[in-house]
Amino acid sequence: MDDFVIKIGLEIHVQLKTESKMFCPCKVDVDSEPNKNICPICTGQPGILPSPNKKAIYYAILVSRALNCKIPDFLYFSRKNYFYPDLPKGYQITQYGISTGIGGEVPVLLDKEIKYFSIERINLEEETAKSFHIEGKVYLDFNRCGIPLLEIVTPPVFDSPFVVINFLKSLRKILMYLNVSDCNMEKGEFRVDTNVSVNLKEKISDHRVELKNLNSLSAIKDALFYEIERQKNLLLKGEKIERETRLWDEEKKETRLMRSKEFVEDYRYFPEPDIPPFKVKEEWLKENLPPLPDYFYKKLIEEGAEFKEIEVITSSPFLADFTLKVLEKIPYKKVKGWILTEILQHVENVEDIKSLPFSTSEFIDFLNKILKGEIPRHLGQEIIKISMQNNLPLNKLIEEKIEIKGKSEIEEVIKEVIEENAHVVEKIKSGKVSAISFLVGRVMEKLKGKANPKEVKELLEKRLLN
Ligand SMILES: [Zn+2]
Repeated sequence: MDDFVIKIGLEIHVQLKTESKMFCPCKVDVDSEPNKNICPICTGQPGILPSPNKKAIYYAILVSRALNCKIPDFLYFSRKNYFYPDLPKGYQITQYGISTGIGGEVPVLLDKEIKYFSIERINLEEETAKSFHIEGKVYLDFNRCGIPLLEIVTPPVFDSPFVVINFLKSLRKILMYLNVSDCNMEKGEFRVDTNVSVNLKEKISDHRVELKNLNSLSAIKDALFYEIERQKNLLLKGEKIERETRLWDEEKKETRLMRSKEFVEDYRYFPEPDIPPFKVKEEWLKENLPPLPDYFYKKLIEEGAEFKEIEVITSSPFLADFTLKVLEKIPYKKVKGWILTEILQHVENVEDIKSLPFSTSEFIDFLNKILKGEIPRHLGQEIIKISMQNNLPLNKLIEEKIEIKGKSEIEEVIKEVIEENAHVVEKIKSGKVSAISFLVGRVMEKLKGKANPKEVKELLEKRLLN
């Protein structure tokens, strides 16, 4: 198996979350009725003049900074000429020869370490229309045409599908932490094309197979595994691997030939004459970046969190921040079950968490009460459940659930329980001390949980063991 060299490169397209489109004032809203948000500019009518969206340029620079890219002083757009019905101008406005972000790297969480993978460039461009194939006919929705799009390209630096998937997860998180895209893969807001080349170690050639139609992380993983095996088998048979584009068939779980690869020259790129080159604004380069996923990865690794746990906690920037604040006061191993199980079991999609019904300090108080035994565990679990399901703050629920009974009231109940359980008391007095927990249970039951079980136990011990 070691006789093969596997190289995988990625080309990722990310829709930016702006109000309006890249070169016209049309609203970005792909969910509205088809062809509602369109104008002469995004439908490519003659005589139009595109005007670039500043917010989109700002976002592209923000991403480039977060990924440690070099950002040129001046930027310009280019035309990529090709004819296809989803882009009626006959060209796409994109970047060529110069990119918003040059070089750079993505910190990726792999098991219990962070590895850095290079990227080649980040380009800002415009989205095409969405085409639908229904009963042999093609329908086009131009609501999507002209939405700002980032193209992030990596060199072929990956050698396994596992690393690719973790790279994509980490990159997606960075974009979500920067709040420049929702990166919803089902909606096509984060799309991935990959290229794969497998070579025999002693005979490296420059073939490259592009894979398209990868609509989810699992499709990417399956397609890569399939394609690597396909190429290995061809090499073992002594056959040549062609430079081509293949389509992933999700149902058959195989790749099939789409077209032999066209070359870059086909696009006849030239600088966009309607948009002059522009200077990158100083202030865009100075603004503080928010804490990014690798900051949280590092902290959580230090706290002893497992890979899977870190993945879950960091999938929402809010939750990652919340967790670190709690960890300033309480060690991770005492916190993790409460967050990962008790809180998250009431959440459908962790990525969507933008707030919780309680503040960090409220949650820290709550955990401290549990750790000191002031709130019994089971009651704590119930409190979290009610809080999460009804969006109620913790403090009020704690008061309601645990108005802790006074000592005299507890003594009263203890007396009752001792009288009712003479045989157990006998056992305890004759040396079977562990039976005391049965009496604690009885007392707690009578008090409807509204006492500190630790205190109840101490009072019982005082009565029975002295
Ligand atoms: Zn428009």
